[in-house]
Amino acid sequence: MSNLRVRYAPSPTGHLHIGGARTALFDYLVARKMGGQFIIRFEDTDQTRHIESGIDNQLDGLRWLGIQWDESVDIGGPYGPYRQTERLELYRPFTDQLLQSGHAYRCYCTEAELEQERAEQEARGETPMYSGKCRHLTAEQEERYRAEGRRPSIRFRVPQDRIIAFDDRIRERVEFETSGIGDFIIVRPDGIPTYNFAVVLDDHLMKINLVIRGEEHLTNTPRQIMIYEALGVEVPEFAHLSLILNQDRKKMSKRDESIIQFVEQYKELGYLPEAVVNFIALLGWAPKGEEEIFSLEELVAQFDLDRVSKSPAVFDMDKLNWMNNLYIKKADPARIVELAIPHLQKAGRLPSELTAQQRSWAEDLIRLYQEQLRFVAEIVPLSELFFREEISFEEEAKALLAEEHAPVVLSSFLRQVEQAGEIAAEGWKDLLKAVQKETGYKGKQLFMTVRVALTGQMHGPDLNMTLHLLGRETVMARLKKLL
Ligand code: GLU
Repeated sequence: MSNLRVRYAPSPTGHLHIGGARTALFDYLVARKMGGQFIIRFEDTDQTRHIESGIDNQLDGLRWLGIQWDESVDIGGPYGPYRQTERLELYRPFTDQLLQSGHAYRCYCTEAELEQERAEQEARGETPMYSGKCRHLTAEQEERYRAEGRRPSIRFRVPQDRIIAFDDRIRERVEFETSGIGDFIIVRPDGIPTYNFAVVLDDHLMKINLVIRGEEHLTNTPRQIMIYEALGVEVPEFAHLSLILNQDRKKMSKRDESIIQFVEQYKELGYLPEAVVNFIALLGWAPKGEEEIFSLEELVAQFDLDRVSKSPAVFDMDKLNWMNNLYIKKADPARIVELAIPHLQKAGRLPSELTAQQRSWAEDLIRLYQEQLRFVAEIVPLSELFFREEISFEEEAKALLAEEHAPVVLSSFLRQVEQAGEIAAEGWKDLLKAVQKETGYKGKQLFMTVRVALTGQMHGPDLNMTLHLLGRETVMARLKKLL
């Protein structure tokens, strides 16, 4: 076992986003591979954005994906508590330390004053940045502000004219000039630390030595490094994962509808967690060989942070659908049946309580489409022809039915069905053979014509099974109507 400790630190503002899931997955893979520990901690100090169910949503999503953690709110651990609002006491001594050493100071500027300062800077064409107005207040000035009823925030005193550099595991050397960074708030007037401060204290107290997170945090990193240095504690290693772009190669926004964004939605639509994990592992990570299909265990064995790219990853829904279909095809049919039945019920295609006979019919129906499903919810549109009185015909289908052979084949088939009485699942084959014998038509002219007449579609799943599931009555009714 190594002493590697990585963490996923979501703000529990809602459901588990696919970007967060990727960060958590990479954390998990690195930790498992190296025999380290994976910690989940919740950054819930921003009360306005915090949703109480957010914590459960995050953990449920990760559990569904099969990602396991070693320490968090649910199972505890030696470095808890694992949510920031329960850690406020722990932060105080560090605030005092920074105030005493002069690395931090109290700022009494009001929101209105800061707003005015920003507006003036913008009017001069400058990038807005705190002016440092409260940097050198005397004890008397502070006293006067307090007497006015002002409540201070605490700002970090950013050292001037320095370069903060670090070696990112993914981006290599990264440098920032401190001249572009204004003194930033580390504790708000209500006493609650801001993200940049709390994250440093938590990572330090929880002995995190590798911070894996999204590229959007890259500009926070120099601020955090300055805090580590001011506290005189060790700076962890960083690995900033590239952005995830949508199919148009634009930065994915949470409102982007070309992409399914939340893990819970994948679950609802009947994506398999193994497929989702496999797919998100490839958002930035390039395996060594040609192979792209990996189980979670295989990912643990193969994954390597050194093969994670710093260029943006493109989220390709078609590829995900292809991959999910691959996993559905390989899955135990009983599992797909279990996932599919609720979709058919919700769509009103099946009653909420199934008789044994209805269940067995539904099982056959779902198996019929297992090969074709990109995600399980697709069972509803795909199997529509089994539930509608009226079927609609594709253009090609209409053309085929207009051909000379069609009425010959179909009336022969209707006769066969009428004469047959009860037809067993396998019995349809024999009827089609009899039609072939009687009419002389075979192959496409026989099978496709029958399929088209009964389904409206040129292509579809196994014909015998389709006929069996439609049942003798429906088959006869549709043929009669057509003829
Ligand atoms: N709470 C931050 C987020 O959700 C975590 C950033 C970090 O990992 O440091 O983006």
